[in-house]
Amino acid sequence: MRRLFAVVALLAGFLLVPASSDAALGNVAPWATATASYTSPWESVAAINDGIDPPRSNDLRNRRWGTWPQAGEQWALLTWPSAQTISSAQVYFFDDGGGVREPVSWRLQSWDGAAYADIPAAYPVAVDGYVTASFPAVTTTRLRIVLESGRAAVGLLEVKAFADTAAAPSGWNPPAALVTPLDEVWRHTESGDRDPYGFRNFGWDQIMANGGSINYCVRWDSPAPVSAELRDRVHAALARSFGKWMNVMAGHDGWPYAEVPVKVVGWAVRDRATLQWDDDSVDVYVGDMRENAPQCAEPCGRFFNQSGAYPGCPGGASHHYDMSLWLTAGMDGGAGGDWGQRIGSEYLVDNLGSDDIHILLHEIGHGFGLDDFYDWTPTGQCCFLMKAGTATSITEFDAWMLRDLWRHLKSRYGY
Ligand SMILES: [Zn+2]
Repeated sequence: MRRLFAVVALLAGFLLVPASSDAALGNVAPWATATASYTSPWESVAAINDGIDPPRSNDLRNRRWGTWPQAGEQWALLTWPSAQTISSAQVYFFDDGGGVREPVSWRLQSWDGAAYADIPAAYPVAVDGYVTASFPAVTTTRLRIVLESGRAAVGLLEVKAFADTAAAPSGWNPPAALVTPLDEVWRHTESGDRDPYGFRNFGWDQIMANGGSINYCVRWDSPAPVSAELRDRVHAALARSFGKWMNVMAGHDGWPYAEVPVKVVGWAVRDRATLQWDDDSVDVYVGDMRENAPQCAEPCGRFFNQSGAYPGCPGGASHHYDMSLWLTAGMDGGAGGDWGQRIGSEYLVDNLGSDDIHILLHEIGHGFGLDDFYDWTPTGQCCFLMKAGTATSITEFDAWMLRDLWRHLKSRYGY
């Protein structure tokens, strides 16, 4: 999981337009980790927050969460690495007319730090569409959807939780137990071989240069064919993973973006026939090799053009890419840096349905300047995503390390 940062001196000049601080309601469910009281072995609890709107309650196309043959009180749980201020939720019940039916009733519960508390609201039950519960806003890291079964087992196809992303933690207010280890991490960062104040190609710099979005090129270093559907699923998994990091920043300490859209602008391959689509939704680069792997054109890559101008990029700056998602056949582990993330192509394809694609999440963390922890552990911490092998999702400590980078670097963007 080593970092491969480029040593590049550059001058960067960015025009900064701070966003307004008005309330912004957004669905934060995709940034949570989903778990459940029980999941039938052939179903997937990750279905409930994968962002896919079901066509009907008997969804035969997308994955589903179901509890057959378990009945009675069943629940699904969304857990965020940082507190969300949630004021409404929508759920879509799974009902196949047989072993899984709509519940007789349902309710939401929030976690108050010690126990779950029912959220008072009206909870309608219906099939073949979303039902909505609205309530006075609750701030919590966990939202539990409790279903009381009726005629059969129960399940959910999708859950949306709407949060005021402008009401998230607004300043530097980490939990007291994290102050010392965060300070240790920052001193370690400052004393490393790269000056964080001088380096200008973090994910922060890339997002700011784009005005709140990030562009990717996929380097497909594999002979395996890629259908249009697989292309779109790779994009969705990347966007979901990147979004998990961005969600811990939403509304925090002047960070101006409620969401950071991920655009995949190009795919690079050895052989055009590997890509089984004819549309022009992405640029396709064939046989442009670097490090013995296909890449998108260098004149379009920020790594090679850190001034932020792309005069040689066919199609212009809107076709530039900030990072590469480099997918290598047969690779274990990963690497990450300002240039992007490198992971195994089979690993990603096998884990497209996973809620937390943890190697990808870890490597994206490096893109923002987070370090590895091979040879030391911050005081009081045992397990977190950036300490490889000790956690598989973004923890509260990971979230606060990211926020601490922003705290130390934000002044250069005018915040
Ligand atoms: Zn690493």
